[in-house]
Amino acid sequence: MNQKKVLLHLFLFLSISVLAQQNKSTTQPNGCGSDNYLQILRKDAAFSANELNMNKQIRLFNASNEIIRQRTNTTNNIGRTTYSVSPITGIISIPVVVHIIKSNPESVTDQMVIDGIKELNDAFAHQGSYSSDTLGVNTGIQFCLAKTAPDGSLTNGIDRISSYYENIDVDLESGALATLSQWDPAYYANIWLVSSIKGEIPPTIFECGSWQRVGYGGYASAGGGLVVSSLSGPLVAHEMGHFLSLLHTFQGQNCANADCTLDGDLVCDTPPDRSTKSSPCNSPENSCNTDTISGPFKKDVPDNISNFMDYGSPCPSVFTQGQSDRMHAFINLFNGGSLLNSNRCNLSCADAILAKFDWYANPHPIIGDVVNFNNSSTGASSYSWYVNGVLMANTASFNYTVSSAGTYVVKLVAYNASGNCNASYTGNVLVDCGVVARFSPDKRIIASEGGIYKDPVLFQNTSYGATNYQWFVSDKTGANFSNAGNTKDLLYDFLQPGTYKIKLVASNGSCISNSGTYTLTVLNPKPDGSLSIYQVNCYKTDSIRIVFGINNSGYDTIHAGAIVSFYDKFPGAVNPQKLNKSFVLPNDILGKCGAVFTQIVGVSKPKQDSITLIFDETNVIDELIESNNSAFKQKFQFRISTKPSDTIVYTNTTLPLLLNNNSLDPISSIIWSPNIGLSCTNCTNPTLNVTDTVLIKAIANSSFNCTDSAYSYIKVFPIDIGLDSTSIVCFNNDSLLVTVKVCLANGYKRLKKKIEIDYFNNDFNLAPAIKLGSIFIDSNTLFSNGCVVIPTRIKMTLTPNIFVAINTSLAQFETNTSNNSKLTKYTPFKLIAQPTDYDAYRGENLPVTIINQGDAYKNIIWTPNEGLSCANCLSTIINTKINKNYKIWGINQFYCTDSTFVNISTYYRSHLALPTVFTPNGDGLNDYFYVIAGKDVVSVNKFQIFNRWGQKVFESSNSKPNEYISGWDGYYKGKIAENGTYVYYILITLLNGTIEEVKGNITLFR
Ligand SMILES: [Zn+2]
Repeated sequence: MNQKKVLLHLFLFLSISVLAQQNKSTTQPNGCGSDNYLQILRKDAAFSANELNMNKQIRLFNASNEIIRQRTNTTNNIGRTTYSVSPITGIISIPVVVHIIKSNPESVTDQMVIDGIKELNDAFAHQGSYSSDTLGVNTGIQFCLAKTAPDGSLTNGIDRISSYYENIDVDLESGALATLSQWDPAYYANIWLVSSIKGEIPPTIFECGSWQRVGYGGYASAGGGLVVSSLSGPLVAHEMGHFLSLLHTFQGQNCANADCTLDGDLVCDTPPDRSTKSSPCNSPENSCNTDTISGPFKKDVPDNISNFMDYGSPCPSVFTQGQSDRMHAFINLFNGGSLLNSNRCNLSCADAILAKFDWYANPHPIIGDVVNFNNSSTGASSYSWYVNGVLMANTASFNYTVSSAGTYVVKLVAYNASGNCNASYTGNVLVDCGVVARFSPDKRIIASEGGIYKDPVLFQNTSYGATNYQWFVSDKTGANFSNAGNTKDLLYDFLQPGTYKIKLVASNGSCISNSGTYTLTVLNPKPDGSLSIYQVNCYKTDSIRIVFGINNSGYDTIHAGAIVSFYDKFPGAVNPQKLNKSFVLPNDILGKCGAVFTQIVGVSKPKQDSITLIFDETNVIDELIESNNSAFKQKFQFRISTKPSDTIVYTNTTLPLLLNNNSLDPISSIIWSPNIGLSCTNCTNPTLNVTDTVLIKAIANSSFNCTDSAYSYIKVFPIDIGLDSTSIVCFNNDSLLVTVKVCLANGYKRLKKKIEIDYFNNDFNLAPAIKLGSIFIDSNTLFSNGCVVIPTRIKMTLTPNIFVAINTSLAQFETNTSNNSKLTKYTPFKLIAQPTDYDAYRGENLPVTIINQGDAYKNIIWTPNEGLSCANCLSTIINTKINKNYKIWGINQFYCTDSTFVNISTYYRSHLALPTVFTPNGDGLNDYFYVIAGKDVVSVNKFQIFNRWGQKVFESSNSKPNEYISGWDGYYKGKIAENGTYVYYILITLLNGTIEEVKGNITLFR
């Protein structure tokens, strides 16, 4: 069984936060408590209002200065718009007083303090060991040890107090340091240097069985002062940054950057940051990607981990220009600029006098003590001692009897010889009856309950002057204190969750002191198991594989042996069946931790598709929450589907198929079938060349050996055979050539079965019809572009129609037969003269056109060809002097012929045109003498010719004019008549019925 531990990151921040410069124990690292300190201060409504107002004013102040400072268009190497920064014209000097709170305050020498301030100044000037990071700027803010004391006298700005408050508990004693000594914060930055700060920076987190507690390195508040546990440069710079209103760069820890002047640290050129973790200097973490939403960043940049105001940096060295601006604004605005104008960095007079005294011999005097003050002043000639502002002595040495409890303000003024310059030193002498009850817990939050999980707290006794002690602990509601013991330190087990109050009474027999009351939160430590289902898979068909997490969101350990049961239905369903087998936790799961497991259980039925997991079904474990012990999952079975699942397409379509995996299980193999027309049979997306209706099946195996199948029913549109067009031409006079265009709809290129085309002389649906012919179209005939053209020769018919019918036997299935037959009119090939008889004037043009019916002629021939403008055209122009009979013969492209006749009768345009000479020599010209007449001459009744002897050589009766055949051929009694002049006599009937007689001579010669 696989098992993987998963850390539950229930708290995303402060898992390990270390101010690395502190170089303290990593088990109890020290951080900055300013945020926690601010939370305490903000409980004061006036403080909160003041803070809000200050931030608003800083924003306005900076906005007005922004107008003066021009942004350039260049972007530096971190993607930040650079400013054209005005050179620092004047250095601001902030006066500082260092209060050394130690049991042996002399262990911190003046030089160490001077060196500490030097470090601080280097940090703020971006110089010395802090100069290398290019993100940093010289803030123009410097600090001096105050040269002028609050009373106007000379001072060295160093104040030493011997006190047990060198180890101060922030929760119980936050006000103690100011009581010991504080200079007016309107004019001085107060730095309290202590040995250690006892506390725990919230939120304290618990992770996988152990608490991660973060201790204090220092804390500060804007305009209030700084408490530090060392004079380390970065620590003091950090807290001084807070003092001058800076917030942590990770402030809010939410990456908000809608308006960089209102979100995060309220400074725009520090990138959004939500992390307090330490990361290597050369590989900074990038905890937010909101950098470009507002502010100067043109791209997302890493966190500025080198910033003094970040946590945990191994290389703190940077204040940005924006932070500098904010500090300058604060200094200008705070208390009307009193810090800026305090002048306490200047000497009030020029003389080497230093006033100093101590009462180290009796640092904690009791009522009635005579306190001897050890004057260690230098360069002075005379002294004045004041107690609570009242001059007490002008001697070098001074002692004072403290007669009651309280604080005595003792001041020494030291004068030079001329009395025109003086220095002063002030000490607060705290007097009580000799006992101060103090303690400090080693844990500030725990989870504990008797019998379940114990997390005892050690309350370390830090009391002064006591010989006996009494501890009091309240009940879990914070009331009803009861005696918890009288040992010096108290190791206490809290047996029930709740909010407890703890206090200490200390005494030396006569003097009794009550400590402050500490409030401790004790959380319910019960374990709390819950289940997360990460993955469920079908497994080898008969089982289910479940990847699930057991998360312990409680504090106590869930021990090995805890059971997870599996059921086949959702919780609450009827008759759930328990599946084999249950899971037994193999290892402990610590508090606030989790682990991931894989279990294989058998199914209750094939393709079981729901599962419920129940943690600790038999309630063996006493949990914080019992209602979150089950988890349910369904629809995890390995399932595939194919696309398209059901479709109809045109045949010969290339159809893309797709196998969808509808589960989370990877597919290990695929088989498509039948393997006809598929581009591949084992891929997820084959293409199918569709030729016919087909049922495609896909079978897939999952990586966990489960099988599923899916079908795609691919139908094709059926064949539809259609008769597109028919043309009929005559063939060889005895046949017809019928050409039909047959088309297949819906994408088909071939028939599946051969079909017959039948030809009839009539629509057989309407009347009896004679079959004239038929032809088959084979199934291998290719219908390119969907159609094929079929010519067929059928019997000649005299009916004017041809009826074509295809697939009448439905040999090929088709759904539409309405387009399967066609009646086509047939016109036979024919040449027609209309009219057939023409009258023509001799020698004049007569246009004649022959009509071509049916098929177009291919050739046409007029015979004879005399007198024609075109002898092979339908239209010709006839020009003849004699009567003519033309035959017109034509042929179509398939050897069908036809002919017709045209008769031309010629007439003379005038009444009679009788020649005077004729030459019957057989040359074909003028060989006959005959009556040439116009149309008005209907007939020649008598035509007689006489020679000069009166002999009649020729006679005809009742002939037509203009017919040479009816004329004289020049012969007489079978012999050629001799040359000479002859007389003729003609009797003609005119159109109007009148008879006309004509006489004349004609000369014959050969
Ligand atoms: Zn801080």
